[in-house]
Amino acid sequence: MKLSIVAIGDELLIGQVTDTNSGAIARIIEPHGWSVDSVTVVGDNSQSIRSAIDTAFTQTDIVVTTGGLGPTKDDITKQVLLDIFGGELRFDNDVLDNVKDIFQKRGLKLNALTESQAMVPTSCRVIQNKVGTAPILWFENDGKILVSLPGVPFECVQMFEQAVFPQLLAKFSTDTYIGHRCVILTGITESDAAEALDEWERELPDCLHLAYLPKMGMIRLRLDGKHSDSVYLEELLDSYHTQLISMFPGKVLAKSDITPVEALLSELRSKGLTLSTAESCTGGNIAHTVTSIAGCSDVYMGSVVSYFNDVKIKLLGVDASLIDAYGVVSEPVVAQMAIGATKAIATDCAIATSGIAGPSGGTPTKPVGTVCISVAYPFEGETRVIAKTMRFPGTRERVIERATTAAIVMLTMALRDSTH
Ligand code: ATP
Ligand code: MG
Repeated sequence: MKLSIVAIGDELLIGQVTDTNSGAIARIIEPHGWSVDSVTVVGDNSQSIRSAIDTAFTQTDIVVTTGGLGPTKDDITKQVLLDIFGGELRFDNDVLDNVKDIFQKRGLKLNALTESQAMVPTSCRVIQNKVGTAPILWFENDGKILVSLPGVPFECVQMFEQAVFPQLLAKFSTDTYIGHRCVILTGITESDAAEALDEWERELPDCLHLAYLPKMGMIRLRLDGKHSDSVYLEELLDSYHTQLISMFPGKVLAKSDITPVEALLSELRSKGLTLSTAESCTGGNIAHTVTSIAGCSDVYMGSVVSYFNDVKIKLLGVDASLIDAYGVVSEPVVAQMAIGATKAIATDCAIATSGIAGPSGGTPTKPVGTVCISVAYPFEGETRVIAKTMRFPGTRERVIERATTAAIVMLTMALRDSTH
């Protein structure tokens, strides 16, 4: 099933606010096999809103609008919907009670403008907004449905997910089951993966489809399935998922849709290992990425943000002579940083980075974007250290982000095949 979205608001057109509502709606419906046919962004202008809605209805029978529902003069969606669906404004006591309730809870006084939220078109059904004052309006005519949602992102998304979409699903329910499986690959290009999968993909059953989603040097392969028999579909997905995994030995970062850091944490947990970090150019971003995951304290111990050479020397035990001989952005130095972190913080594993994030500081041999990454981990009773030099394109932020992901992936993949 497809729906169209019309996002309304002058602020969206001048770039003051980015339309996040459409993407959020798309993500809610996607797992159910629904998709967004088009997103049209229009200003608070009657004609533009009307023409966007009319055009959307030529493509899909369901149109969702967001924004412009409030009581202020610039919010005119309600009037346009009255023009399209007919009827007149009526007073809705439940909406007023809801508005009063919200104002009371926030300690605010109600004024006439806010009370006008309770005036709703007679041509629609009202869905109470549990988290805000603007009611959700559901119009239905000739098999066409228009649902008007408030613009405030958390109101829009929460009400769509909890009240609107369940009703759409119930109305258009089919006996088609939807299922997904995911494999995340690393160390392979999209075209090499596509080539390896060419024949396999061509022989997939009709009810399965494979999507390639490359991001940050990784490829997410998503296997989508649709079938009337859910048990059959799940078995089929399991079997093709297993085949997919077996086709990329040494390249599978994760067998489900998780982030690299979640893959690393689960690898550490399953092996009972602890982790520390020693970060120069990433400046604590790896620590931040790891600690963004709730519950990481069972394996993650801490970090030394060793930006200045003296900190590398004093806290991590890096040899000054090594820095002189190879430079601070070098594999020998970053390897010592990793070993130093395992000792200083007493962990089984460590990740270390040293690089040139830019925009200045590059040299002909070590241009901006050069990052040395090292990981230390137990291997056959000893601590094994690997160091690699990588080059990342882009701005300072991007280099830091890419280096963070690459470092996390490097340790995850090293641990995959390790024994200790
Ligand atoms: P209310 O007036 O009750 O707050 P509303 O439906 O009138 O709701 P708007 O006035 O259009 O909503 O927008 C409310 C807020 O939500 C504004 O800050 C606006 O910038 C933001 N907003 C509106 N539409 C979107 C959107 N598509 N994506 C992200 N933010 C949005
Ligand atoms: Mg608005």
